[in-house]
Amino acid sequence: MPLIKHVFAREILDSRGYPTIETEVFLDSGTHGKSAIPSGASTGSFEAVELRDGGTRFLGKGVLGAVKNVNELIFPALIGKNAVDQAAVDGIMIGLDGTTNKGILGANAILSVSLAVCKAAANYYRLPLYRYIGGLAKYKLPRPMMNILNGGVHADNRIDIQEFMIVPVKESSFMDYVIMCSTVYHNLKKHLKSVGLNSNVGDEGGVAPNLSSTKEALDCVMNSIEISGYKPGEEVQIAIDVAASELHEDGKYQIDGECKTSSQLIEFYGKLMDDYPIISFEDPFAEEDWSTFAEMTTKFGKRVQIVGDDLYVTNSKRLQKGIDMAASNAILIKPNQIGTLTETLATINLAKANGYNIVISHRSGETNDTTIADLSVAVSAEYIKTGAPARGERVAKYNQLIRIEESFGKTQNCTVVPSH
Ligand code: PGA
Ligand code: ZN
Repeated sequence: MPLIKHVFAREILDSRGYPTIETEVFLDSGTHGKSAIPSGASTGSFEAVELRDGGTRFLGKGVLGAVKNVNELIFPALIGKNAVDQAAVDGIMIGLDGTTNKGILGANAILSVSLAVCKAAANYYRLPLYRYIGGLAKYKLPRPMMNILNGGVHADNRIDIQEFMIVPVKESSFMDYVIMCSTVYHNLKKHLKSVGLNSNVGDEGGVAPNLSSTKEALDCVMNSIEISGYKPGEEVQIAIDVAASELHEDGKYQIDGECKTSSQLIEFYGKLMDDYPIISFEDPFAEEDWSTFAEMTTKFGKRVQIVGDDLYVTNSKRLQKGIDMAASNAILIKPNQIGTLTETLATINLAKANGYNIVISHRSGETNDTTIADLSVAVSAEYIKTGAPARGERVAKYNQLIRIEESFGKTQNCTVVPSH
């Protein structure tokens, strides 16, 4: 039984240049695991607490308090514990924190240890991370929902919707998905340059041109699909993350220069679906607008995927409420919204048991940690959302999925049983 010998955290930088926590776990067997934690910008208010130092150092965003919590409180509590018993390890940290939102130790501190322990245990068994987490499952690689155009709080432009993503339609190899999405992405950049628009990228690697409406953004995406030689709808579909909590003010939604009620917004989405091949709406309403989520799901749930991100914050209690209300048919999974791997997997299992699609997701502030790529395979998630095919921290996840696919052996169909 591999026992935890040493746990050590440090402060590093994330992709936005803000501090984040990196943790290393050493087992008595000599094996080791390391994790680094991402950070959101359009965070849901019900997310577990990301502990920041405040004050003036690093503009208040330092994580030395979280680092200290790992080194001085979590490490002594975990020394000598069995690294393979992930639920017990996570349970000890949850108990040590003692709050429901991990506000004492910090979800960033706790998750960094949770993931590093898991990776150390996978290394102990010499198993790929996805296989250690997923066990003797029949694995399936996810389909990318690849962000190519950014707006909202992820870009300094006037587009209100946060993310415009492309999704390959036909079942194919992961590499073929990447080729397709990368082709469309580069043609989008070329197209923007040719019409004199800025093709610089936003936080998640998507372009952030100075367009001013949802329609203009969608037309750009359609154009880039077409000039790439793909048929919109048949070969490439569109997914959007409205991140509507950011647009919600006094019970109404500010979008495209208009102030819409919840039912006007449903109508607006219906029109978008008629005009464009949109197959997925993430956070189409604010995080507490449960009844409108349910109305949208009743009306359009057979036709499109409706994904709860800020709505559920990877929390099984909030997900259960959504299931009871039929508020959506899919969930976005971000481990740092809840703070341990055990709770993340519990939420995924609850979602699957109720027929929800699973979308494993990065955060807008990322690191080169590729755990979510393995997690998406471990749970056979339908989708992964990890940004554009650009910026090292985004590409790291796609590259890990390329490696995993390669390890499965050559196949045109991703549904394979790994050979090792
Ligand atoms: P965030 O955005 O990481 O900034 O919260 C991602 C998302 O809303 O899906
Ligand atoms: Zn989102």
